[in-house]
Amino acid sequence: MTRVAIVGGGPGGYEAALVAAQLGAEVTLVDRDGVGGSAVLTDCVPSKTLIATAEVVSDAAESAELGVELGHDSVGVDLRRVNQRVLALAKAQSADTTAAVEKAGVQILRGSGRLAPGDRVVVDEGSHEFVADVALLATGARPRILPEAEPDGERILTWEQVYDLDELPEHLVVVGSGVTGAEFASAYNALGSDVTLVSSRDRVLPGEDADAAYVLEEVFARRGLNVLSKSRAASVRREGSGVVVSLTDGRTVRGSHCLMAVGSVPNTEGLGLSECGVALDDRGFVKVDRVSRTSARGVYAAGDVTGVNMLASVAAMQGRTAMWHALGDAVSPLNLKTVAANVFTDPEIATVGWSQAAVDAGDIDAVAVKLPLATNARAKMLGIRDGFVKLFCRPGTGIIVGGVVVAPRASELIHPISLGVEASLTVDQMARAFTVYPSLSGSVAEAARQLHRRD
Ligand SMILES: Cc1cc2nc3c(=O)[nH]c(=O)nc-3n(C[C@H](O)[C@H](O)[C@H](O)COP(=O)(O)OP(=O)(O)OC[C@H]3O[C@@H](n4cnc5c(N)ncnc54)[C@H](O)[C@@H]3O)c2cc1C
Repeated sequence: MTRVAIVGGGPGGYEAALVAAQLGAEVTLVDRDGVGGSAVLTDCVPSKTLIATAEVVSDAAESAELGVELGHDSVGVDLRRVNQRVLALAKAQSADTTAAVEKAGVQILRGSGRLAPGDRVVVDEGSHEFVADVALLATGARPRILPEAEPDGERILTWEQVYDLDELPEHLVVVGSGVTGAEFASAYNALGSDVTLVSSRDRVLPGEDADAAYVLEEVFARRGLNVLSKSRAASVRREGSGVVVSLTDGRTVRGSHCLMAVGSVPNTEGLGLSECGVALDDRGFVKVDRVSRTSARGVYAAGDVTGVNMLASVAAMQGRTAMWHALGDAVSPLNLKTVAANVFTDPEIATVGWSQAAVDAGDIDAVAVKLPLATNARAKMLGIRDGFVKLFCRPGTGIIVGGVVVAPRASELIHPISLGVEASLTVDQMARAFTVYPSLSGSVAEAARQLHRRD
């Protein structure tokens, strides 16, 4: 029986453990903080639970247009209760995941693991040690800390610390306008905080579709969320009962709290990597190929520690792929062009496949159509004004190669496009499939219809 050791119990680790157990291996999973990892305990699950409350608040706040009369002047939240729910839900999800992994026959060891020469895995500096034929590193990443903006857990916060707040920040300054910064800015703005988003670039979400980011900026402006573009934070310090964010151009921004969202660094320290011949890339992430192999024989890596695409879904797929490969099952190399991703702002921004930037740069020959949601009957009924569906296909064959959806629950609407990209469906095939009338997904089919080639 193949002995598999997995270090790190996030989606990269626990999904790999489930596959390895299914394929008959003897699996030991070593985890420091709780099965589910940061994804479940501090990152995806808590943030999306907070955002679920924010969505209800903003739907209620905008319901007057639909003829709803609320009993009070405004909708408020009790942040202490919101955060209690967030943390309880994360704990419950971790417990459910632990139970599923145990039920599959995986042995879970609580502690810090590292590799050691001789195919050994050492837990908590020798309290436990075992030999494995195959090892998977899935130790994740943690928030990047700038020395000039050290979080104190009270006023200057990382995204892991926001759930300790008992009261809604009066004025939250969010430093960083990538996905995490934009999501928290959008959520706290909906919950009722004044929000300033400090963005070093000329627009929010610099890595996303530019049309989508433009819609989001317009919505932010309408809701009074202040975006400071081309503004780089030099330092953040506490002053009295608030914070002062100093920008590199000499300006200062004052707020009650500051959330630092300036990226992540991989958890590679103390893992015995160099002794075991596991190479890092020039950014400090564990170097892997498309079946998750590292430079050391028998050692695989998955998830944020590899920096391939820092998403829970990608971590999980890398982990499964590693086990399929190591244990001799059918395996296809990871294809990043089929990854569906979502930014959980309001509205959400979901993408899959080739991007507009790649099409504009000539990296792929594709034609596009963009349909605003404002003309969709269901959108009108729901009071949705912002957003669009964009579809890309090859000019000759009509094969779908990518898409963008900006809408409430875009994360659900992207799936037909994702399926189209994965299965190389044509726009005609997508257009022929029925959609419900009235529905937002009708706009996906309509976009496909508009891309039909007349010749
Ligand atoms: C605020 C935020 C929101 C996010 N939202 C989403 C989202 O909605 N959707 C999405 O797809 N992605 C989201 N992500 C990204 C997602 O959280 C990560 O991509 C995902 O957690 C990566 O999984 P992982 O298995 O690599 O590592 P992690 O989830 O970080 O888990 C790693 C585990 O390894 C443990 N560990 C570390 N070192 C050791 C050691 N030496 N020994 C034993 N255990 C160790 C850690 O304690 C942890 O439990 C979000 C990220 C952030 C920051």
